Amino acid sequence: MNVTDALPAGAAAGACDRLTILVAAFDEAQSLPRLHPRIAAVMAALRADGIDARVLYVDDGSGDATWEVMRALAADDPRVALLRLSRNFGKEAALTAGLDMVETGAAMILDADGQDPPELIPQFVAHWRAGYDDVHGTRLSRDGEGWVKKSTAHLFYRLMQRLARTPVPADTGDYRLLSPRALAALRQLRERQRFMKGLFGWIGFNRIAVPYQRESRIAGRSKFSLWRLWNFAIDGVTSFSTAPLRLATYVGGLTACGAFVFALWIICKALLFGDRVAGWPTMMTVILFLGGVQLVALGVIGEYLGRLYEESKQRPLYLVQDWRPAGSGSDDASA
Ligand code: UDP
Ligand code: MG
Repeated sequence: MNVTDALPAGAAAGACDRLTILVAAFDEAQSLPRLHPRIAAVMAALRADGIDARVLYVDDGSGDATWEVMRALAADDPRVALLRLSRNFGKEAALTAGLDMVETGAAMILDADGQDPPELIPQFVAHWRAGYDDVHGTRLSRDGEGWVKKSTAHLFYRLMQRLARTPVPADTGDYRLLSPRALAALRQLRERQRFMKGLFGWIGFNRIAVPYQRESRIAGRSKFSLWRLWNFAIDGVTSFSTAPLRLATYVGGLTACGAFVFALWIICKALLFGDRVAGWPTMMTVILFLGGVQLVALGVIGEYLGRLYEESKQRPLYLVQDWRPAGSGSDDASA
């Protein structure tokens, strides 16, 4: 179906809907100057279609010239708003900060590295106008990413689908449009351990996927090393599933059953053949095995306990160093 067919009559003619394109950037000084012209072209096209499109760049505590690049972009373009966090809080917090700033209209989340093509935004908008609240890009292919990243990502999404009761669509990242009511819902979720893909799924509403080809980065390197991805995966699983805790219970139960059978066998053996002191290797094996199982179970409990501890501190999710609404130009007061 051609999605533009679904536009409500008069959508383009009358009301002017606001769309904020949200881009979180961490050390993206090289990518942003290449990305912005593409976004600007899309914003112009959207305006012709009756959409008041703006862009909000969030500097997630970059160590390079990202903030200077952003200020230069905002000085030249009154549709650009800027937000700078006080340090690097991570992508999830940077996105939360940006979404918190979107007061009216919908928000469209893009990566700063051009991997999520801005040219597809009109398709997302068409779905929004047709009544969808969460229009998410689903990757058909991932260019420029190694097989390790592709296969671990593939595995992770499948695992999440099995473990979590919250729907987390496969091969779907943060590239998505959220309607005003989806944004309002999301703002109510203030948990500290933020796994955005899960939170997007949790809120529900009308959802639709837009298939797309994920391009290579236009510049720079990925900020997500395999180790960071591994930790991210643990965050994802622990914030949306307690299955690992239950698994610990099952493993404990199975081990206890095994131990019972083993004990019966030892007793029978002792009764039938007498109790000669033997079985040192067996004993060591059992002790080490049980010790290992117990430590793993403790570790799993620790993962959840640690997160509970983080949550109980009730710290803010991010701190803002600088906020420049669209149209505030090159004001240097708080630079
Ligand atoms: N990013 C961020 N804060 C971070 C790490 C990344 O805002 O601490 C941004 C980054 O600038 C980019 C997006 O998140 O716009 C995705 O990051 P990246 O391209 O490194 O991840 P990948 O696409 O390789 O998963
Ligand atoms: Mg990227």
